[in-house]
Amino acid sequence: MRPDILNPLFAETSGLDGVGPKLAKPLERLGLTRVRDLAYHLPERFVSRRALVDLDEGNEGEQVIIALTPVEHRAPRMGGRGPYRVLAQDAKGNICALTWFGKAAYTAKKLLPVGETRWVAGRLDRYGDMLQMVHPDHIEEAGAAHLERLNEPVYRLSDGLTQPRMTGLVAQALARLPELPEWIEPGQLAQKGWPIWRDAIHLAHSREHPEARERLAYDELLANSLALLLVKAEGRRRKGQALVGDGALRAKLALPFALTGAQARSIAEIEGDMAQDAPMLRLLQGDVGAGKTVVALNAMLIAAEAGKQAALLAPTELLARQHFETLRKMAAPTGVEIALFTGRDKGRARESILMGLLDGSIQLVVGTHAIFQEAVQYRDLGLVVIDEQHRFGVAQRLALAAKGRRAPHTLAMTATPIPRSLTLAQYGEMDVSRLDELPPGRQAIDTRVVAMERIEDVVAGVERHLAGGQQAYWVCPMVRELDGVPDMADIAAAEARYAALKERLGDAVVLVHGQLRPEAKDAAMERFASGAAKLLVATTVIEVGVDVPAATLMVIEQAERFGLAQLHQLRGRVGRGAEKSTCLLLRGGQLSETARARLALMRATQDGFRIAEEDLELRGGGELLGTRQSGDAAFRLASLDQVQRLLPVAHSDARLLMERDGGLTSARGEAARVLLYLFERDWGVQLLRGG
Ligand code: ADP
Ligand code: MG
Repeated sequence: MRPDILNPLFAETSGLDGVGPKLAKPLERLGLTRVRDLAYHLPERFVSRRALVDLDEGNEGEQVIIALTPVEHRAPRMGGRGPYRVLAQDAKGNICALTWFGKAAYTAKKLLPVGETRWVAGRLDRYGDMLQMVHPDHIEEAGAAHLERLNEPVYRLSDGLTQPRMTGLVAQALARLPELPEWIEPGQLAQKGWPIWRDAIHLAHSREHPEARERLAYDELLANSLALLLVKAEGRRRKGQALVGDGALRAKLALPFALTGAQARSIAEIEGDMAQDAPMLRLLQGDVGAGKTVVALNAMLIAAEAGKQAALLAPTELLARQHFETLRKMAAPTGVEIALFTGRDKGRARESILMGLLDGSIQLVVGTHAIFQEAVQYRDLGLVVIDEQHRFGVAQRLALAAKGRRAPHTLAMTATPIPRSLTLAQYGEMDVSRLDELPPGRQAIDTRVVAMERIEDVVAGVERHLAGGQQAYWVCPMVRELDGVPDMADIAAAEARYAALKERLGDAVVLVHGQLRPEAKDAAMERFASGAAKLLVATTVIEVGVDVPAATLMVIEQAERFGLAQLHQLRGRVGRGAEKSTCLLLRGGQLSETARARLALMRATQDGFRIAEEDLELRGGGELLGTRQSGDAAFRLASLDQVQRLLPVAHSDARLLMERDGGLTSARGEAARVLLYLFERDWGVQLLRGG
């Protein structure tokens, strides 16, 4: 149960003054649904303004605040569309135009009566030979309040919110902050110059304050480390079961290839773990195409040889289906019973799988998170394999783990090449096996960056490619154009691109994206995989796992909009067969230095680990930790730099606390529980008795 002291922080933002249905949406888009979220919605930066006595002192482009007296209102001519201007003068009689476009003009009329002096804050620029401020940020009656405007936070906004609105909401949130028990030792606070929690939040909103920010980031990292350690401790507390296979099933596998050294080593490491009483907690890291599937199959067969069941969890239905097909083919000679279970199974089929899992006649099951459902009971689940672990929370993993009478062994697989310095943050203290060697015979993918203006040539190239009997992917950044967002209007939409390509290339083109019904998606994938369709137009749903060796051309439109890790994953869809493959990165016109460097890196190397490391240098690895907006980011507060500096500290502090007080019952332990709830890492606490 969440400590009561946190109640004010977990109150919904819809209860704040002035928040009606109109603000609820934009707040939700920013993930600001609780008072706590607002408190942690720290300014992106601060504007510092200069207080001017008269306009002569000001420079163009400068943020200022100055006392001005309106002398004349100039409304647009009747029915005209021009701006609304108020001419106002300073103490010396210099004139400045205060300018509004559109509906905002309405405010101007009310706030600036002719002849009455007001404090006006905004950015000075020029209109003809007059100074002007377009949409001033603040207009206030004379008083001390204007001094606060000299240094002002700038918050990330979404459509429908303004800075003053956001500032007002944050102020309401700050007024509700409770005093929390301190989870950091006093000595550490003193040594680092860190404020106590409540002060740190206030300070971080009021001015540049590195110590306050650092403390808040540390809190988040500490919460994360603690939660991971609690999970690990729980894993140790629950007994696992030692699974020793006799090799009988594995011997029947008739693989068309020899294992690579890295595959053999990983399998041996897994076999060693599974033979222990303590449940395995291992991460298998391997680039796209490194051959993780066969490693997973070997692990699953070990469980089956030991008389247990094994489950493989995939992030999407599409991938579950593909894994199932691959495993069924590979495992056919062994005679093990293998089933596919997704949320879509109904009636008889569903019943029969549920029965098979319950009585143990199904030894291996592949599925989506549907295999977590209450209704699914296993006779004796010995191993859980999770593909693309970053898409699942640890909480879900635990839910599955709780199913076995004993804790099952867990093998997580990821193709996201995470730099070594970040594995700890992402995966905690899992043991790691790395597939750092690709199967032999892989050809380098010819990667080229092509300007969007040459799209006609590219389409012609695709046409020739298909005419030559090969297949291709065409990836677009989004499904359809966002309406009402003008600067997004040029974003390539998969639907539009599909329509255009279909017109040119006919029925050989299929479309797959996340908003299609699963049946439609599968049908399209099926046509592509079987070779009936030649060109697959898609959004990033094809990102992970899709395996069609005959596809040898990948076109990625607006490549600069994708993260490097994502580009790497996408490119990994080709180069899977014996034919030489090509990847064309179509880029837009105006590219930043960084964007250029990133695309150049894609051209230069195919080594996922190197791409990850260098991307970290280039842009701070936002995508490795998940984008902050997306809600599945590992950290909302801590920047990459803070993660690198503070994570080791937070981690060792968390360890120390766990060693001294693993049940979190001391005063500091209690405070740490509050911290875990504060950062919604309560899946850690809930493992504790009385959590
Ligand atoms: P990923 O690590 O991306 O999941 P897969 O398991 O899908 O990679 O393997 C990619 C391809 O490589 C598959 O077609 C698979 O059959 C093949 N493969 C796997 N291991 C080897 C190997 N040792 N030698 C040759 N081909 C292999
Ligand atoms: Mg895979």
